[in-house]
Amino acid sequence: MRNKGWVHCPDCDAWVATPGEDQIATPLFVATCHHCGSEFDWRSFKWDWSRRFLVGACFRWEEYVAPREDPTYIWSHEHCAMCRQTFMELDHPSIQRFGYVANANGQEWWVCRTCFDDFQEEFNWRVEPPD
Ligand SMILES: [Zn+2]
Ligand SMILES: [Zn+2]
Repeated sequence: MRNKGWVHCPDCDAWVATPGEDQIATPLFVATCHHCGSEFDWRSFKWDWSRRFLVGACFRWEEYVAPREDPTYIWSHEHCAMCRQTFMELDHPSIQRFGYVANANGQEWWVCRTCFDDFQEEFNWRVEPPD
């Protein structure tokens, strides 16, 4: 499950909408700038403030577990830091139950398997051996 989002075009800095779940014909991770025509992988924004803490991070492969102390925990979820894929304690084809998680900058960051594979090298990510 993905939500539409907005990123800055790397070439002209205009705002560009990332494709939503409804746009099946659009390649998943390609955004097109309507201002300058540039096409780019909208996930690869290392300089985005929300992701710079992830450079060199150490991840664990984990199942997402909703916090039980919260009475509305059933709706509790996380998003992939790169593509906003949803992690939830729910069996559904468009929901991820497992993901890579890292502690950085005082909080947990979730990354889906696809993005982990695509960006492991660029972000110099490591994986903690399971205990
Ligand atoms: Zn542009
Ligand atoms: Zn992802």
